[in-house]
Amino acid sequence: MSEPTLFDLSQPGKRCTRMPRPERAAEELVPTRHLRAEAPALPEVSEPEIARHYARLAAWNFNVDRNFYPLGSCTMKYNPRAHEAIAADPGWARLHPATPDECVQGALELIAELETWLAAILGMDAVSLQPPAGAAGEFTSLRVFRAWHDARGDAARTRVIVPDTAHGTNPASVARCGWEVTVLPSGEDGRVSPEALADALGDDVAALMLTNPNTLGLFETRVLEIAEMVHDAGALMYCDGANLNALLGHARPGDMGFDAVQVNLHKTFSTPHGGGGPGAGPIGVVAKLEPFLPAPRLVEREGALGWDWDRPQSIGKVQAWFGNFLIAVRAWAYIRAMGAEGLRRVTEDAVLAANYVRGALRDTLDLPYPGACMHECVLSAKTLAGETGVRAADIAKRLLDYDIHPPTMYFPLVVDEALMIEPTETESKATLDRFIAVMREIARDAAEHPELLHDAPHSTPVRRVDEVTAARKPVLRWREG
Ligand SMILES: *Cc1c(COP(=O)(O)O)cnc(C)c1O
Repeated sequence: MSEPTLFDLSQPGKRCTRMPRPERAAEELVPTRHLRAEAPALPEVSEPEIARHYARLAAWNFNVDRNFYPLGSCTMKYNPRAHEAIAADPGWARLHPATPDECVQGALELIAELETWLAAILGMDAVSLQPPAGAAGEFTSLRVFRAWHDARGDAARTRVIVPDTAHGTNPASVARCGWEVTVLPSGEDGRVSPEALADALGDDVAALMLTNPNTLGLFETRVLEIAEMVHDAGALMYCDGANLNALLGHARPGDMGFDAVQVNLHKTFSTPHGGGGPGAGPIGVVAKLEPFLPAPRLVEREGALGWDWDRPQSIGKVQAWFGNFLIAVRAWAYIRAMGAEGLRRVTEDAVLAANYVRGALRDTLDLPYPGACMHECVLSAKTLAGETGVRAADIAKRLLDYDIHPPTMYFPLVVDEALMIEPTETESKATLDRFIAVMREIARDAAEHPELLHDAPHSTPVRRVDEVTAARKPVLRWREG
């Protein structure tokens, strides 16, 4: 690429702010074995050059503040600025986690309140804010399940059943927990069939992991029957709660028979995400699992809040300190601002938006599972590919030319040429209408000018990249020559 790196801009002697020299020699401040023998080979550039370099790179990046970002299952909703301002308040942002409990009662109160609110939203008895992401919430919950089985002397359970529509983190969490995955094929209607589940269950099964609504955007209508079967087999029910945007104020995993669920605060509860930045995946559990939750637990003692480390049955810590606190602050602000009625509306508008897009595009693309969806819809470019050779990936790349972020592609795996679209509740009807019009135009171009799609994107700073080579031989650092 022709764009200069900071190394290309480097000229000996250029520098940024001149910091005062420390009064003491480096050898006095740092053990000599940690001192560098030579200065690192960093580019020598001026501060404006650095600022402009990163501003230019940032402008290349697609983000939800820029335009529509219907990346299915990721819930890329707009993140209100007010919540960012609240989280940036030095009263929260500059708190040191080692501050004595009696000096941070306000922060502990916020944590306690968020735990209570999430428990109410989930229909669960106890919440831990410690896991730092959705996948970490899955892993933590499975460890809690494992501890519960072990405590009952039921340690011979080694399998976890995971439907074939599950997010890849589900089997990964099972494996990290030292268990085996049994893949459950979905039924014809895209849902888990109790008949297939009966075949997979056994007294060596520790849990079923179910996403509800599932990644096809479909509600698992037979979840109560499924929960009863799983519990009868002595196993536990785990809800991958990443799709909570479809349930707020309308349905609760606890009422569906789930024993544990994670909440992706960075999805449903509005925290900027997508760049790999900090998130939070609190978990809610039923009362019998509470003793096994990560330590420490927040408790009230003699009228004050404090951390209880004396948790003999706890699985231990899964994250430094108490979790990603500033994400909790944003989620607290979001729930506070929305209120119960507002959260109900979030789900209603999210489901309405997804069904609006589904209804408008079902003649343009294939709709593998007919009928209403929840907060996202999955369409297929299969028929288009058959007629024109244009694949889901080509459509995704072409959308970039319209400054729209592509939907999730090729997932869930059970749908050929899948395009998974999650508009979220924060998009206006005008935005959805433009997206629909663009998708129809792209489908027309697929028939008439397929090369336009095969070569897309045409207008982005980086054109189509060789994704296979990028994945197999990633270039992650600059090297001279
Ligand atoms: C996003 C997502 C996850 C994983 O959450 P992270 O916070 O990215 O770890 C798990 N399951 C589903 C269905 C998801 O959409």
